[in-house]
Amino acid sequence: MAQIIDGKLISSQIKSELADDVKILKAQGVHICLCVIQVGNDPASSVYVKNKKKGCELIGIDSESYELPEETTEEELLDLIDRLNNDDRITGILVQLPLPKHINEDAVIEKISPLKDVDGFNPISVGNLCIGKEGFVSCTPAGIIELLKRSNIEIAGKECVVLGRSNIVGKPMSLLMLRENATVTIAHSKTKDLKEVCKRADILIVAIGKSRFITSEYVKEGAVVIDVGINRGADGKLCGDVDYDDVFDKCSFITPVPGGVGPMTIAMLLKNCVIAVD
Ligand code: NDP
Repeated sequence: MAQIIDGKLISSQIKSELADDVKILKAQGVHICLCVIQVGNDPASSVYVKNKKKGCELIGIDSESYELPEETTEEELLDLIDRLNNDDRITGILVQLPLPKHINEDAVIEKISPLKDVDGFNPISVGNLCIGKEGFVSCTPAGIIELLKRSNIEIAGKECVVLGRSNIVGKPMSLLMLRENATVTIAHSKTKDLKEVCKRADILIVAIGKSRFITSEYVKEGAVVIDVGINRGADGKLCGDVDYDDVFDKCSFITPVPGGVGPMTIAMLLKNCVIAVD
């Protein structure tokens, strides 16, 4: 039977540690302000933006937001980012994705100064991660490392399979596990014998966006299973990429959905906001 990794609890511990750090920084006269930009009014994005602002308030840092209309041009958005890059009051910049189709996301991400790139998506941040230099790390993968460490799960020397190779989860996740000295395999939709590959894992991290795809047949006895997926199942309920009930008795640790990886993403964003002023 698995131990449940409680992401809600761990994320609230991190937020409370950050609130203490912020108090000290404020006493030293350091000002922290996250600027969140949303283009259009996608309801899911609006909820994420609201939660990010609430998180800032909780740890005692300032936040500003720009809610721009859907028809905002790429040039207008890039100009705004340019102004914010040069505004000393703003210490972190985040553009809520996805952007409307007429705006090139890569150009926008590249425009954010690497010094204020609290999402860790800028190619310079990704490059720093790749060559082992300090820099901002994408929040969800960074949160998973915290979950493993705070659950006293050893990473060094372990076989880790990361299922999924997206720029925001799979790729940075595998680089982070490598940095922690795991032996890392990255699997994806073209991987052959996926079950056998996944079964090699001491630590299996799944980020594919497919409801309950990973069953016990993919999992080695005693493996640690980290489920990044957030999907709506056929029953309308929120579920992960892992078939939680099927896998539960086979693994040693597992993250639930909701309440596992999800709450860590905002906690790590807030951590990046604090790191930005270090
Ligand atoms: P993407 O769609 O960008 O990437 C999915 C990856 O999974 C791709 O690399 C794809 O392979 C691979 N894949 C898809 N189907 C299969 C399959 N049947 N077998 C093997 N590999 C497969 O997704 P994201 O990385 O952005 O997100 C993944 C999941 O994590 C989603 O459910 C998302 O909602 C969730 N998520 C959760 C976050 C959180 O805070 N908890 C944050 C970010 C995402 P290929 O490259 O070959 O196409």
